[in-house]
Amino acid sequence: MFDILLNEEEKEIKYKTREFVKSIPPSLLRKMDREEIHYPTDYVKSLAKEELLGVRFPSEYGGQGLGWVAETAALEEIGVLGPSLGCLYSLISIVGEAINYFGNPIQKKKYLEPIIRGKLFCAEALTEPRGGSDFFGATCFAEKQGDVFILNGEKRFVVGSEGADIFLVYAKTDSEASDPRKSISTFVVERGAGVEVKHVYGLMGSRGGGTGRLNFNNVEVPEENLIGELNQGGEIFNQMMIPERMTSAAGAIGAARAGIEVAAKYSNRRKAFGQIIRKFQGVSFKIADSITLLDAARSLIFSTSRTIDANGGITNGVIRRMVSESKKFATDAAWEVINHAMQIMGGIGYTNVYPVERLLRDIRLMSIWTGTNEIMNLLIQHEYYTEFLNQEITPRDVEQDAVGAEFSEEKVFE
Ligand SMILES: Cc1cc2nc3c(=O)[nH]c(=O)nc-3n(C[C@H](O)[C@H](O)[C@H](O)COP(=O)(O)OP(=O)(O)OC[C@H]3O[C@@H](n4cnc5c(N)ncnc54)[C@H](O)[C@@H]3O)c2cc1C
Repeated sequence: MFDILLNEEEKEIKYKTREFVKSIPPSLLRKMDREEIHYPTDYVKSLAKEELLGVRFPSEYGGQGLGWVAETAALEEIGVLGPSLGCLYSLISIVGEAINYFGNPIQKKKYLEPIIRGKLFCAEALTEPRGGSDFFGATCFAEKQGDVFILNGEKRFVVGSEGADIFLVYAKTDSEASDPRKSISTFVVERGAGVEVKHVYGLMGSRGGGTGRLNFNNVEVPEENLIGELNQGGEIFNQMMIPERMTSAAGAIGAARAGIEVAAKYSNRRKAFGQIIRKFQGVSFKIADSITLLDAARSLIFSTSRTIDANGGITNGVIRRMVSESKKFATDAAWEVINHAMQIMGGIGYTNVYPVERLLRDIRLMSIWTGTNEIMNLLIQHEYYTEFLNQEITPRDVEQDAVGAEFSEEKVFE
């Protein structure tokens, strides 16, 4: 994040996180990539010890009461470790958002505080085998029986399926509802009887988080674990998508920055035709394009973060559009930047001698998860048309500036 635009608190958290990132041993990243680790709990505990988790949440629950600018500044630094470790950092922000905004004080004490303090490990279970993009088409079902809900169904691609203690689960609670957005509820489900990991996926990259398919078989969820009100899941989902997508955006530019820095360093030493390769425009212009993309993404993330902070963090159309733009633009940019990094490095970049090949594998995920970039386009155009067609202060009618503006019979619409 741009130092000049940060206040002292924001700068402090950014540089504290940078120091933390430097302390993580390369062996952890290597073991995760080799899938020798399925959920690095010690890493999450060490983040908690440094008070780096859930920085936006109130201090009474272990947070720092900071804003989105601080969190995205920290996340860019965490992103240097790649999306897997970035995701384990972000889960506290994502799951915590639902509990902080919609949970009651007892739920915050029981779940929000321990996840921020690294005493409980959390995961989010939204996606189902029959469709992730079609969130409201969920088939997981929770039926009220006495003072418990009986949960049945499956969720897949859950990071932390193997390592988490609690899952934030969305399930249908009203199959008759005419509006699907009012048919779903949100629960905190503790790992226990009836919660089973059915499959752990082999991934192209972003490994070591234990991404798996979960089965819920007659799981008894106490009614006090309902977050918010019955059938309020749609609203909670919309709010939770702010951290879901902002963490992807900020993490992506951190990972891309790490990759392009490896390539920039290499291009300043590697020689071809008697000179260092950065003297070739074909190489240095790739650096220029990459840095421009990263600064553009960073600018969008910064202005989105400021906008959310100014608005008090509650979802509205403008925030939803900006968050979706940030996620889409930053993750697409990150993919392009890492690709440039690999090209700059030639053959050695494609080998595991350098981490660029891992970053390329890792970063590919980011335009797919937390809502695909096609779904981001759906949201962006929807919010844009809503804003544009309902403007209170209309802009200049530029159509009248055309030389042939008066030929109204030529303006055919149907
Ligand atoms: C490694 C990994 C980790 C993940 N972690 C989690 C997690 O921790 N928790 C969790 O709940 N989920 C997680 N996910 C799930 C992820 O968010 C979904 O995979 C993603 O939202 C897409 O859903 P899908 O895979 O079902 O694809 P589908 O919804 O089947 O989409 C397939 C394709 O169709 C396109 N498409 C679908 N609908 C439309 C439309 N209306 N307009 C245009 N295009 C459309 C999509 O963009 C995509 O290209 C993870 C996924 C992966 C791979």
